[in-house]
Amino acid sequence: MELIVDLHIHSRYSRATSKDSNLEGLYRWGKIKGINIIGTGDFTHPAWFAEIQDKLEPAEPGLFKLRQDLAIAIDKTLPASIRKNLIRFALTVEISNIYSKNEKVRKLHNLVIMPSVKAVSQFNSALERIGNLKADGRPILGLDSKQLLTLTLDTDPSALFVPAHIWTPWFSMFGSKSGFNSIDEAFEELAPEIKAIETGLSSDPFMNWRIAELQKVTIISNSDAHSPQKLGREATILQSQVDYHDIINGIKTNDRRIVGTIEFFPQEGKYHYDGHRACNIRFSPKQTKNHQGLCPVCHQSLTVGVDNRVNELANLAEDYQPKRHKVVEYIIPLIEILAEMQEKTTAAKAVQTAYQKVILDLGNEFTILRKMPIIEIKDAGYEALAKAIVRMRQKEVHVEPGYDGVFGTIKLFTSNEERKKQLTEQIGLGWET
Ligand SMILES: [Zn+2]
Ligand SMILES: [Zn+2]
Repeated sequence: MELIVDLHIHSRYSRATSKDSNLEGLYRWGKIKGINIIGTGDFTHPAWFAEIQDKLEPAEPGLFKLRQDLAIAIDKTLPASIRKNLIRFALTVEISNIYSKNEKVRKLHNLVIMPSVKAVSQFNSALERIGNLKADGRPILGLDSKQLLTLTLDTDPSALFVPAHIWTPWFSMFGSKSGFNSIDEAFEELAPEIKAIETGLSSDPFMNWRIAELQKVTIISNSDAHSPQKLGREATILQSQVDYHDIINGIKTNDRRIVGTIEFFPQEGKYHYDGHRACNIRFSPKQTKNHQGLCPVCHQSLTVGVDNRVNELANLAEDYQPKRHKVVEYIIPLIEILAEMQEKTTAAKAVQTAYQKVILDLGNEFTILRKMPIIEIKDAGYEALAKAIVRMRQKEVHVEPGYDGVFGTIKLFTSNEERKKQLTEQIGLGWET
């Protein structure tokens, strides 16, 4: 069956996360969004790992489900349109590896996915000797990424190790500030064990395919959600069985089980362009070059974004596209579409209520954004939303790229007249969350 998979998330034990980042919250939002396999995140944190063992129970091989009493209580509060969506959890963590290699400080984030509680316990005991796992759900370890890879595969050969958001400047494998220039440089003779990479919000598969060595690995996408509402900002689509091993083997071999990815428009990511947030400077790679990489306001070097860094490492031209490639779908989160239509922020009560109403009437978010025939959306009374979704699916968007930690903006409508407000009039009551 088609599975929507999001393996990179954080619990409330990670820094700068929402207090609702718990298993119940992930279950609830997984159903609302239409995600099937959700990473637990943070399994190295002792309190979170205890909670995982208390609130999840074994389901299909290598996968877990929310304890029945908890699931029933949540299902009762959800509209019938989404109650039946299948939700399973996989055991995952992101680790921040900070170390020095070839006389440079390296900071890489890596995802580790494990098939069993036993494997996680064993892995955690090994890591406990290296660093403090209690301080942060995403622990910082002074361990070479290559050693972490070795430890992962030694613990369980069916584990998966994935360099995370590989282009972000400060903490990633190819980051301009602290990364490497190739998988080989980072992992040496173990480079062939890197079977997959994560695009991150600021890059898409087409950008990654310009790097010859990345054509040999599977490209996956995840949300890196710090609150359950952000689940599925990006995700991976598989055609596989509901079974850890089938999913992970699909990822490791990049065979037909990998259908493709669901992507943020990469310009919307926080590090797409170059710039200085404090100096209000946003530059394209070309502008950066014209200024010799320096900020015209403070004269310090600019934070080089993902677009620039991809150009630096690319072996292939900007317009290169592989002849055959996996599906790449671009989405804008439904709440952002509704906020734009109502000219309000995503936090506005009216926008939140509209979101609930749409889910209640039409079903989960991914079905609405990706699959639902436009006529059905219209027939349910959502004319303006139907128009917005057509534009999103056809990639007719207006973009201001993100830079130096500032999210970019994506607009579907250009003029105020176009911003139909009838949606506000259709709003009745949502359901209680
Ligand atoms: Zn990270
Ligand atoms: Zn500056």
